[in-house]
Amino acid sequence: MGWSLEIIEVNNFKNMDQIKKITEKIIAFRNARDWEQFHKPKDLAISLSLEVAEVLEHFQWKSEEEIKDYIKNNKEEIGEELADVFNYLLIIAHDLKIDLGKASKDKIKKNAIKYPIKKAKGKHTKYNKL
Ligand SMILES: [Mg+2]
Repeated sequence: MGWSLEIIEVNNFKNMDQIKKITEKIIAFRNARDWEQFHKPKDLAISLSLEVAEVLEHFQWKSEEEIKDYIKNNKEEIGEELADVFNYLLIIAHDLKIDLGKASKDKIKKNAIKYPIKKAKGKHTKYNKL
């Protein structure tokens, strides 16, 4: 499968409305609490980074074997941290007027061209070294 087929598949995504609906919910949540006043882009980016760190905390110091068991037993907690990351992403994109669904699709298309399957399959090499 070449990159052109991958791009056609991305263009056919139909459920991007989900992102809009969840964004509306999280913004309504924020507005009901009058928290927009605290949500400067810098502080939102810091919060996003802190939430990513909370995801990492689940895996810190654990071996690959311990992590497998940990994930089985702590899916809900890990999911909550991923949701925190996701929700901050949605808020930042909303405030900066970035269509995150479109940005994501565009980035997948760019990456499909940067990392052609023929050259990149099974490799972790950066695109400029392929
Ligand atoms: Mg959190």
